[in-house]
Amino acid sequence: MNVIMFGPPGAGKGTQAKLLQEKRKLPQLSTGDMLRAAIAAGTPLGKQVESILAKGDLVSDEIVVGIIGDRYDQPDCKNGAVFDGFPRTIAQAEALDKMLAARGRKIDVVIELKVDDTILLDRVKQRIAEGSARPDDNPETLKNRLDVYYRNTAPLLDYYKKQGKLTTLDGMAPIADVTAAIAQVLAKA
Ligand code: ADP
Repeated sequence: MNVIMFGPPGAGKGTQAKLLQEKRKLPQLSTGDMLRAAIAAGTPLGKQVESILAKGDLVSDEIVVGIIGDRYDQPDCKNGAVFDGFPRTIAQAEALDKMLAARGRKIDVVIELKVDDTILLDRVKQRIAEGSARPDDNPETLKNRLDVYYRNTAPLLDYYKKQGKLTTLDGMAPIADVTAAIAQVLAKA
């Protein structure tokens, strides 16, 4: 099964994708984590994208489509994967559909976690207070990440709705409730 976790920055996609990875053995494919790992390792790719992530802008479609394609061909994705933070543009979604079709696969379900902007800002402030904030977790960069989300990524909701794959869940509910709601959706998919 191939699942996309969808939602604005801080919606809880990563948290839920990790839980799915543990429970259903579907690897979490997070482009954000992969890019941060490249930055931490100081690879040429990491050097190329570091300032883009710091600003909260989007890395090129070519780069993220490339790293997702390589990752998806690893043996642990033989039963599918959970895509987290990818796709983020229509071009990425089309590339993903093509990549999966070439392997006789498809996206089965897209789960949107809906969270109000004010709550997202509160969550970032909490990460800062706890000392667990990333370099791009500050109120100014979050504003840009949200703008980028609404401009480039939110239009994908319609793309997946038209394919009949979209389910929207309340991302402001307690973590365990969101996990249970996701399990119900996947049981029917
Ligand atoms: P968020 O919590 O904002 O959803 P992510 O960890 O998914 O964070 O992504 C962090 C940053 O990495 C983004 O702001 C962007 O710069 C870059 N990035 C991650 N995934 C993509 C993607 N699919 N396309 C373009 N840029 C991406």
